[in-house]
Order: sequence, then structure tokens, then C-alpha cells
Amino acid sequence: MKKLTRRSFNSLATKGILGSALMANMPLANALTTKQNGKKLGIALVGLGSYSTYQLAPSLQETSHCYLAGIVTGTKEKEAVWSKKYNIPSKNIYNYENFDSIVNNKDIDVVYVVLPNSMHADFCIRAAKAGKHVICEKPMAVSVLECDAIIKACNENNVKLSVGYRMQSDPYTNEVKKYVREKTFGDVLFVSSDAGYISKGNPNQWRLDKSLSGGGALMNMGVYSIQTSIYGTGQNPIAVSAQEFSTRPDYFKDTDETITAQFKFENGAVAHMMTSHNANGNQLKCHCSNGWFELEPAHSYGPISGTTSNGDILKFPHKRQQALQMDDFAKHILMGTKNVAPGEMGKRDMIIVEAIYKSIAEGGKEQLLSLGNMGIVS
Ligand code: NAD
Repeated sequence: MKKLTRRSFNSLATKGILGSALMANMPLANALTTKQNGKKLGIALVGLGSYSTYQLAPSLQETSHCYLAGIVTGTKEKEAVWSKKYNIPSKNIYNYENFDSIVNNKDIDVVYVVLPNSMHADFCIRAAKAGKHVICEKPMAVSVLECDAIIKACNENNVKLSVGYRMQSDPYTNEVKKYVREKTFGDVLFVSSDAGYISKGNPNQWRLDKSLSGGGALMNMGVYSIQTSIYGTGQNPIAVSAQEFSTRPDYFKDTDETITAQFKFENGAVAHMMTSHNANGNQLKCHCSNGWFELEPAHSYGPISGTTSNGDILKFPHKRQQALQMDDFAKHILMGTKNVAPGEMGKRDMIIVEAIYKSIAEGGKEQLLSLGNMGIVS
């Protein structure tokens, strides 16, 4: 039977596992296996905006290892609608003020923070302090300092942390990573990636308000281009230079419109990325010593599509990426499988985001990156 340290005792007690075991006079090992084998993990979504409504909640109807157990919302009217639609009991419904009392709710194992970016750190830290595992939407936060604070809170409270990088669970992404790893087309020499859309909506939306978003296209879509540049080469970059372009300053008053950046890698490979709120882009192309491969679309909700210089067209059965992502995290918690999008990956990407903004502020000056020792590659 697993030896109980004070830290693991506290963690189990917080999750209600220990209490149930003691009450039922059940050995701890049995209680753990009951929790792990007999029940799906309960997820509470925090913030019921567009992504929760149209992607995460429907995906949670398709997951095998977790389910939609609770909601946290600042909009009273949403409580009844969600409760009815997803059969959520009133004891599992919270608002932003009473959220911390979720510590006492045994139905909730994982809190998934789906709020504007500047609110991620606060709610992730509160979730960790309540003894809940955490999924934090991308970008992980609005600064490296905030990423550090989230990671620290999760470590101190002995809970697992993952970033909502759904592409890390996508089969096309993983096929591309295999090409890179196995050098199927030789060495990757140059990667081109773009991620953007044309923003036309309400100029007062939070994505265009730096105090809530932390930045514009780069914070929103740019993290996809950063990720594709990294898994397209299988390496963390060693340096970055960046440029910003503005054509609609009246609309993009507070946040970046279009950014391009070039990465250098230790083995001599180069990557070029473009991210924009004023141009469409959804592509990853890897030029190699012996051919090429590409994904287009590369990071939309799917199905993703791929081609290679051999003419092969990659084909995988379509499944919601978010369902795969949440199941991957649930399996990590329940079965100890790899955390495919750990907090350190979100922090690494925020280090790169900050370096890109610094390069722009310094007129495109190259910024050196020391990410090699972070242990996170793609
Ligand atoms: P949204 O605007 O549709 O929803 C935001 C939610 O936050 C709403 O429920 C709103 O009521 C709530 N909220 C609380 N305080 C707020 C405030 N001060 N201002 C504005 N809204 C406030 O946004 P969304 O598209 O659901 O995005 C939420 C998060 O999810 C963001 O971090 C975003 O980057 C991320 N996201 C990720 C993906 C992905 O593919 N992984 C896709 C979309 C969004």
C-alpha cells in the first residue's frame, strides 16, 4: 500500500478521498482505486463564454475519463440554463465570489479556467488552494511572473496543472512531431507558420483591451505559431527577432494587430511565424533536407488536414480535440500518463512572448533565449 506522507495525506484529505475511506472503514488503497477506476473525474468550468459553451461543454459529452460536474459563472441567468442542459445539481454551481468554497465539494476534481487571460492566474491559484487539479486556458497568463505563481501554487497544494493546448492531443500534431523526431523527410531546415483571423467585432471586446488580454494577436493566436515553430523543429529556440505592423490603429488602439517573428535553433534551423488579428492564417509548413510536410489547417478545431512531398495525405478519424485534451489530462491524474501540456510549457511560451514584445520595443533587436534547461520541448 502506498506510504502516506504528510503532504499526500493533506492532499487526499482535501479531495475528500480520505474522509470517504475513513467513514466507510475502507483501506486507503481501496479508496484510491474506487476513485480512480470507478468514477470519471468531475470537471468544473469557470467562465461560460463562447469557448466553454460551444467547445468544452459539448466535448465533455464525448470524454471517457472526465465529465462536466460543475460550473462557475458571474452571470446568474446562465445557472438555470446550464443546470437544465447538462443536469448540473445546484450544489455544484458557483459564482466568482463563493468559488473558494469549492474546496468542500467532492464532486469536483478539476477546475478548468476559461476566463479572459488576465483572470487566469487568480482563479488557477484559488483552484489550487482549494485542492483541485487545474486546467488553465491559453495563454497561460499575461506574464512569466504569473505563470510562476500558478506553478508554485499547484506544486504547494500537490495538484496537477495543464494548459488548454488542445493541439498537443491532436493526432495530426503528433504525426508531425513523429516526422520531426524520426527525420522522415530528413532534417527540418526551415519552418513557416501562421495563425490569425480578421477581427471585425465589438471594439470594446476584452481581447482588444490590454488590461484583460495582456496583448493582442500574439497573446491570442500567436501562441499557436510559437508552438508550431517548436514542434515543427522539435527544439526550443535559442533566439528571436520580431516586428509589429499596424494598419487599423483606430480599431486596435490598445493591442498588437500583426506580428512577425523569426526564431533561430541550435542546429541551424530557422522558423518564421506570423500572427494577426487582421489577416487569416492557419498553417504549418516544414521544409526539410529531403522533402517537406505541412498542415493546413494546422490549429483550428478540425478536422486538421496534412500533405507531404511524398503525396501522402494524413488522415485520422475526427474527434473533438478538446475531448482528447481533457481525457489526456484525466489519464495523467488517474493513471500517471504523461502530462502533454504542463504548466512549464505555458511558462516557456510566455517567456517567448515576452522576448518577442521586447524585440519589437527595441526595434527588432535579437533576443537570446535560454530555454534548453526547462525540460520542455514540444
Ligand atoms: P468569451 O468572451 O466568449 O468568454 C469570456 C467569459 O469570461 C464570459 O463568460 C464572461 O462573462 C467571463 N468574464 C468574467 N469577467 C469578465 C470580464 N471582466 N470581461 C469579459 N468577460 C468576463 O471568451 P472565450 O473565447 O470563451 O475565451 C476565454 C478563454 O479561453 C481565453 O483565455 C481564451 O484565450 C481561451 N480560448 C481558448 C481557445 C482554444 O482553442 N484553446 C479558444 C477560445 C478561447
